[in-house]
Amino acid sequence: MAGLVVSQVTKKFGTFEALSNVSLEIASGHLACLLGPSGCGKTTLLRIVAGLETPSNGEVYMDGQALSGIPAHRREFGMVFQSLALFPHLSVAENIAYPLTIRGASRAQRASRVGEMLELVRLKGLGARRIHQLSGGQRQRVAIARGLALNPKLFLLDEPLSALDAKLREHMQVELRMLQQRLSVTTILVTHDQREAMTLADHVIVMDQGKAQQSGPPLTIYRRPANSFVAGFIGKTNLIPCHRQGNKLKLLGSEIQADLVAALDSGDCRDLLLSVRPEHVKICAANEGEFAGTVRFVRDLGSGVEISVTIDAVDIRSSQPAGTTLQTGVQVGISFEFPNCNLLMP
Ligand code: ATP
Repeated sequence: MAGLVVSQVTKKFGTFEALSNVSLEIASGHLACLLGPSGCGKTTLLRIVAGLETPSNGEVYMDGQALSGIPAHRREFGMVFQSLALFPHLSVAENIAYPLTIRGASRAQRASRVGEMLELVRLKGLGARRIHQLSGGQRQRVAIARGLALNPKLFLLDEPLSALDAKLREHMQVELRMLQQRLSVTTILVTHDQREAMTLADHVIVMDQGKAQQSGPPLTIYRRPANSFVAGFIGKTNLIPCHRQGNKLKLLGSEIQADLVAALDSGDCRDLLLSVRPEHVKICAANEGEFAGTVRFVRDLGSGVEISVTIDAVDIRSSQPAGTTLQTGVQVGISFEFPNCNLLMP
């Protein structure tokens, strides 16, 4: 397959297994996000792909070629580190030209490529500036331009936007995605921010404790999470304990038909979790719906209203359309959009 293949990669540091048998495929021209909490192994996997770390087991292939034995500088990959690692004593243009200088490109080749890259990342006219004379977003763009200067086969980014404030970060996410799509460069981006992954990625790999928990298009993962970790990590969800008996599902003091819910293969397990996204919780009049509850908390965000309802001593979060008005303490009926819910292993 053209693109990147990681096959059964394990990485041990002493006796500690930072990666356990991780496999994934990223199609040529796609942007994949490695997403997971701190310490789950994202950076270790990225460093193995880059050739900065050697796997204890397994292999990485680029466009069908095994990479073991090929040192980092010969892999022709571009990389942007979390710290950016820009050289403060060099100008913007010299920073971008750095990988070309190492490759022995002529002065004319460097000048022409730097000109292209400055235009690409919208920093035209700032080539002579020093790094400390740039804003956070501009520094980010210099690091991206440097990573792309050699026209890499694979572009690797390790939490490149994490130091930016929320607004600039969202702006840079869109900018980065548009740039990546324009260049069609196969890209892996490490992040622990699920919104960032949803904004940027064609393909998300959710990691936890050194394992790839689920891999696929972001919307598929959002709609059909493979387990309760993924359901809770991607977006908000209510994880409601329930008990399956035959074709009946008991939860929150009521009973429903189990086949209403998209069940994953939960084998013989009878104690399960029902994952219900807040947007799939409907609030109705007190004597309607499958469940009866009491409004516990209302938060009006302007664009929508978040309402928590207590049902059978369990708090359920819901998101309602803008303009919804409800008082705390009011009795309501609740129903779930069961076809959009998921039955998961605990
Ligand atoms: P973060 O989001 O915090 O950067 P991460 O998901 O990128 O986390 P890694 O940096 O890949 O996580 O680390 C995974 C695990 O491996 C962590 O428990 C870390 O302490 C451990 N680890 C990483 N590098 C080494 C090393 N050189 N020696 C020993 N343990 C290491």
